[in-house]
Amino acid sequence: MRDIYKTKEQLLDELETSRQRIAELDALETELKESNKLFRMLFFSSPIGMYIVQDGYFQIVGHQFARIAGYDEDELIGKPSLTFVFPEDRNAVRENAVKMLKGESFSGYEYRIITKLAVIKWVMETVTPVSYQGRRATLGNLMDITERRQAEETLKQMVGEIGRSNTELEQFAYVVSHDLQEPLRMVSSYTQLLARRYHDKLDTSANDFINYAVDGAERMRVLLNNLLDYSRLGTHGKPFKLTDFEDVFNQAMTNLKVAIEESEALVTHDYLPTLIVDEGQLVQLFQNLIGNAVKFCNQESPRIHVSAETKSGVWVFSVRDNGIGIDPQHAQRIFEIFKRLHTREEYSGTGMGLAICKKIVERHGGNIWIYSQPGEGSTFYFTIPVTGGKSP
Ligand code: ADP
Repeated sequence: MRDIYKTKEQLLDELETSRQRIAELDALETELKESNKLFRMLFFSSPIGMYIVQDGYFQIVGHQFARIAGYDEDELIGKPSLTFVFPEDRNAVRENAVKMLKGESFSGYEYRIITKLAVIKWVMETVTPVSYQGRRATLGNLMDITERRQAEETLKQMVGEIGRSNTELEQFAYVVSHDLQEPLRMVSSYTQLLARRYHDKLDTSANDFINYAVDGAERMRVLLNNLLDYSRLGTHGKPFKLTDFEDVFNQAMTNLKVAIEESEALVTHDYLPTLIVDEGQLVQLFQNLIGNAVKFCNQESPRIHVSAETKSGVWVFSVRDNGIGIDPQHAQRIFEIFKRLHTREEYSGTGMGLAICKKIVERHGGNIWIYSQPGEGSTFYFTIPVTGGKSP
């Protein structure tokens, strides 16, 4: 038979164990109280809007959430959560809630809410399944992103407007340059006829006047052709294809053969990559840059070097010369149409070459800029994405 009487020592032992248990429980209770306090602090003073929804109704609502929605916390408790969601976004929010309850977690989805004062706001929300009072519930954290969305919207509209006005400008330039060509051809041919037929038959001033007119008409023809080329860059470009830049360089060199030979220019280059581009436009780009390097030289014969290197996702090309250089204060201006730093008497040209280069580079998703000092030569840099551009 089991001895039912406990010794004094045994009773003291049990008493000690019970005391320890009570101390452990006390510690647990303190921990629980602290966690509760922490939870309430977090929930109610967090700068993120927090709430708990169960069976579609708000159970707990944080201060920031109520502030975003424009209510007092108490007004929201017990209200159906979906009534705050903008009607067009309700289905998406409901579907997300169902998926979340099936175990998928959602972070950062964006939708609109309607506040107490009927203002529509954009929020970004993360929802997590939780247990509340022993049953399944949803913990939501959200942020008011209305300002960001409005800024994005304004930016989108601005980009759209800029795109539209660019297209209009291109169409305008195209129509003007195209339609002016016909009357210009008439002026040109009749002034040339005058020059041929009446040269030396009138006085010397008349000869000069006729020559000025012929010269002016010719200049206008070149300007209009350049403008027409410029306006066609965006719309008449060829689809992008894999292109060896060695070929691009060689074609540009062939086109510049006469100018290079006349000026005894030495043009060298490093390894050039193969990228997806509009080959014809890239030849034009190289031709304009190397052509300028040949043209804007001082007394010594031009030394031009073309190189390319990869840097964080782009190929950076450079065309370096030992020419006259430019004052850095003009570094932006020279890429605008018809902008020149010299008279025609000093250096020939229309001021369209670099504007065309800029447009070609931008069509390929890159940038173009110059590093130069007067008398110390210039280096033109431009970038093309490593993945090549995408045909627009
Ligand atoms: P253009 O060559 O017809 O004058 P561009 O648009 O090609 O027109 O160039 C604009 C201006 O930029 C030039 O008039 C010249 O002043 C300056 N420029 C361009 N390339 C160079 C260069 N390699 N060295 C010095 N100046 C240059």
